[in-house]
Amino acid sequence: MTSPSLTDGTEAEPAPESDHESALVTARRQLERAAAHVDVDPGVVERLKHPTRVQQVTVPLEREDGTVEVFTGYRAQHDDVRGPYKGGLRYHPEVTAEECVGLSMWMTWKCAVMDLPFGGGKGGIAVDPKSLTDDETERLTRRFAEELRDVVGPTKDVPAPDMGTDAQTMAWFMDAYSMQQGETVPGVVTGKPPVIGGSYGREAAPGRSTAIATREAIDYHGGELQNATIAIQGFGSVGANAARLLEEWGGTVVAVSDVNGAIYDPDGLETHEIPTHEEEPEAVLEHDAPETLSNEAVLELDVDVVIPAAVGNVITADNADAIEADIVVEGANGPTTFAADTVLDERGVTVIPDILANAGGVTVSYFEWLQDINRRKWSLERVNEELETHMLDAWADVREQVELGGLTWRDAAYVVALSRIAEAKSIRGLWP
Ligand code: GLU
Repeated sequence: MTSPSLTDGTEAEPAPESDHESALVTARRQLERAAAHVDVDPGVVERLKHPTRVQQVTVPLEREDGTVEVFTGYRAQHDDVRGPYKGGLRYHPEVTAEECVGLSMWMTWKCAVMDLPFGGGKGGIAVDPKSLTDDETERLTRRFAEELRDVVGPTKDVPAPDMGTDAQTMAWFMDAYSMQQGETVPGVVTGKPPVIGGSYGREAAPGRSTAIATREAIDYHGGELQNATIAIQGFGSVGANAARLLEEWGGTVVAVSDVNGAIYDPDGLETHEIPTHEEEPEAVLEHDAPETLSNEAVLELDVDVVIPAAVGNVITADNADAIEADIVVEGANGPTTFAADTVLDERGVTVIPDILANAGGVTVSYFEWLQDINRRKWSLERVNEELETHMLDAWADVREQVELGGLTWRDAAYVVALSRIAEAKSIRGLWP
């Protein structure tokens, strides 16, 4: 089913009852706020509030006990003026069309901030991946790939891993698509294992870019990473890779957490010793540390930098006043609500937005896609060097807007993204 107006809340949006707003509401408010700082045709802004298309599919699955369950899957394609739609597929019980649209908008800005030749997409299945066996996950993924076959492809829309999906999920997706196309098409998805066209360094890339953004933010504020204390919420791929790199570069990571809670050591944790979610799920608390805290308390520690790197909507109007850090670096997508953003800004807390901080994932996805379509393989050194260059270029572009317009880092990142998208739209023109 293709339904561009599907629950995309395009009409008047009532203020959400609580501050826990949907990704779409946050994304639209951020767009409107940033548009005020850019000389952009209001028609372009209006267009960008709506996705090009939302594909909704049903995905039947025969469970191990022989019963059949039918899941709902989505692929939101927000905008492709700069290139094919790009963005992850998540498996999570709370996946909805509306959430996918909001997240696909963020992908459009993220790709534009990084100056990648991609637009924004996002999709997923409303399913709890923990309730599936490996075999069920494989069959669900293959059927999902088949249901999306008409709308994805290396020059149309290129999915990638996101919450609840990983390199193996992408391998199954790529295989199912390739089997139906009658040829191996590695460029249909990114985030694959390197042996089938994945890129070295892709898995660690969102954490690496989050660490780079943290390092640059500390430097921008006149500090030194060697003297900085950092607290990280979430010890999955983003949180763990960021933690380990920041520790390697001389930072002191005093707290990390997973859903069960946090460990805290004011002298710094040895983050390489703590198993990541992938190595051993939810095992952070099993690591020896002087103190334990709740997962939420990590955000309120008196540290230099706090990195929310788990789920969205964790910094809200309820706790924004309690954030003690000088800098928040968004490792997760959408961890700060619109209302919390305002509170943090008023309190002088710098927020480095997700579309810049965790953009290493999609940037290395772009490198992977280039390697796939050119049938080339880059070394890990080359990937990391090029990622560093892309991050520093994007950092400089956003910093320029921060300084020129006295903007927050989020508004500045949106201004960079929106200017590029608006220019592309105006040069291509509205058709017919
Ligand atoms: N899911 C990741 C993100 O939110 C990566 C998307 C991609 O690599 O296409 O940025």
